Amino acid sequence: MGAVPLLASVWLVGSGTHPAARTDPHDCHCYLVWDGTGGVLVDTGTGLGARSWLAAVGEVCDPAALRGAIVTHYHADHAGGAGAARAAGLSVLASAETAAALRTADESRTSLAVARAAGVYPADYRLAPTTVDQVVSGGDVVRAGNLEIEVVDAPGHCDGHLVVLVRTAGRTVLFSGDCLFADGRVSLQAIHDCRLDRYAETVIGLAEREVDVLLPGHGEPVLHGAHVDIGRAADSFRQLIPPPNVLHT
Ligand SMILES: [Zn+2]
Repeated sequence: MGAVPLLASVWLVGSGTHPAARTDPHDCHCYLVWDGTGGVLVDTGTGLGARSWLAAVGEVCDPAALRGAIVTHYHADHAGGAGAARAAGLSVLASAETAAALRTADESRTSLAVARAAGVYPADYRLAPTTVDQVVSGGDVVRAGNLEIEVVDAPGHCDGHLVVLVRTAGRTVLFSGDCLFADGRVSLQAIHDCRLDRYAETVIGLAEREVDVLLPGHGEPVLHGAHVDIGRAADSFRQLIPPPNVLHT
């Protein structure tokens, strides 16, 4: 397992499913952006595979040279590794909602309790209380070397969800967490803070950003023409119809 190059400055360094980047079956995709001058990690997995993704980062750059790890949202498959990132010397950046939930490892707010009961996580899996070093929100620009990383508020899948836009190698890349997926699918769950109206606003807004590359938290990346995929989801929401769900029984 190791770092899988996706674009000139982007690698997949962790995943629950990608055969060459697999860290732990419960992990989301974890991405490394590194342009030789600076970079960030986007999402940290459950923490169960942290040793593997830290090693994969080390194949590309010195983890200590990174600006930090941006956590898109507080679900355990994305945020559970935040403590491991901090232990490795990375700053953790996240929304205020994510920071509040991680501070106390809140199993209700993060829906970990219900997800574990549903069999999504191992019976003995727990979040560790973790401090977020920097709270970020929509419109913030995180600078890492020559990279400018824009944070966009993206509630809908859950409260406090962020997505990240990076312009690199002449293309606009969207790291979408659990907000948007290939073919314009979305992630809808019967949890307390999945909000269809907010989801619609988020996706319709993102459709205006002329995104070239969509790198989601799960499933296939869209390496060309991602605005078509995002536009499909936005068109569905405009008709008040939830787009197809990436999750199924
Ligand atoms: Zn999620």
